[in-house]
Amino acid sequence: MSAVTLEEVDRQIRNGFRLLRFKPAIESLFLQDYTAHRVKLAPIWAIVGTLIYDMVYFGDRTMMANVFPQLVIVRFGIFTPFALFSVLALRRWPSALNYDLLAIGVAVLGALLPMSVAMHSGSPYLFVYQNGNVAAFLFFVIALRPRFVTILLGLALMCAVQFTTTKLSGAFDDVVYAGIVTFYITLVIFLVISAYISEHKDRLNFLNQLRGGLLHVQLEQKSERDELTGLFNRHSLERVRSSIWRTKSGTTSVAIVMIDIDRFKLFNDVHGHIEGDDCIRAVCQCISREIGVSGTTFRFGGEEILILLPNVDREKAFAIAERTRGAVEALGIRHRGLDDGQVITASLGVAWGETSRQSLEDLLKTADTALYEAKRHGRNAVFPPHALPELS
Ligand code: GH3
Ligand code: MG
Ligand code: MG
Repeated sequence: MSAVTLEEVDRQIRNGFRLLRFKPAIESLFLQDYTAHRVKLAPIWAIVGTLIYDMVYFGDRTMMANVFPQLVIVRFGIFTPFALFSVLALRRWPSALNYDLLAIGVAVLGALLPMSVAMHSGSPYLFVYQNGNVAAFLFFVIALRPRFVTILLGLALMCAVQFTTTKLSGAFDDVVYAGIVTFYITLVIFLVISAYISEHKDRLNFLNQLRGGLLHVQLEQKSERDELTGLFNRHSLERVRSSIWRTKSGTTSVAIVMIDIDRFKLFNDVHGHIEGDDCIRAVCQCISREIGVSGTTFRFGGEEILILLPNVDREKAFAIAERTRGAVEALGIRHRGLDDGQVITASLGVAWGETSRQSLEDLLKTADTALYEAKRHGRNAVFPPHALPELS
């Protein structure tokens, strides 16, 4: 799923994150999430933002009558196409950096364009008019929500635009100008603090979500595996059943091999349970190695192992079972409860069928009966008896 581990995420949560930055691997995931989320919302904000921005057309007409044609050009001829271009560019080249750069572009252009025209208007309403840029500041920080550093840079540029155009307009005396500067600086302080808190919270939420996802995957993996042997457990047989029996591609031949270690109670009595556990582990690993990718191996019960072999013909299934029996014997695990020189062996029951005709339960029953027969006929054997083909 992801390139980071649960331990790395836990460590990041424990140690915190300075300057709103994670360790590189987690940061890269965060930026993927950030970009996907922002790119998704970009068209909505482009429509809402441009609509509001262009509706100031009515204010332009009443407050800035003598520069009205120029304002129409900057609103409809420059800003609106730029906003649309930004959305298209972002869809074509989605990245966190591109989003942040375009967000700054939209915000600064949005503040600059009308003021650069209005400053030449000589209009008595310029004080009210320039207040409109508060909306641009809020839109940039609250709606577009770029990263914190981008917000710092964007707000600094917007302030520079605001302070320069209002100063150069010559419309305000020093007292009014100082009032405008104070107002915007106060606004920026509030916006900067809230942007920091907001991104910190977003990042913390992201970490917790990532942790939840990784924990879920880990639990799922653990719940499928047997702790002692690392094989799949009986519970996970259900998942494998649905993938084999409910396949849409029609019928599949499938074999089941049920394995039980011989005289294992006695082994435990003589060697003790710790060695008994080691023995089960060794036998399971041996079987799992032997089966490889041709099937799936489950610890079915105490010292019972089940092998599920999909897409295999009858002869091959018996050949695999026979080879597995030989491999367990070849492990050479000494069984001191038996006669001198005797080693751990296993008995195997095989069932073969087609998914359209036999259910998993049918095959399990047949394999179990065959295993019982193998035990009854002296153990260390594969049942039912079969002609052994050459393995390819
Ligand atoms: P048989 O040849 O007929 O199979 O004889 P057996 O003694 O192996 O009989 P059975 O299969 O019924 O006995 C299984 C024994 O396996 C019983 C139990 O003590 C032991 N066992 C089951 N699970 C574990 C385990 O996790 N660890 C250990 N050490 N022993 C286990
Ligand atoms: Mg048993
Ligand atoms: Mg046994």
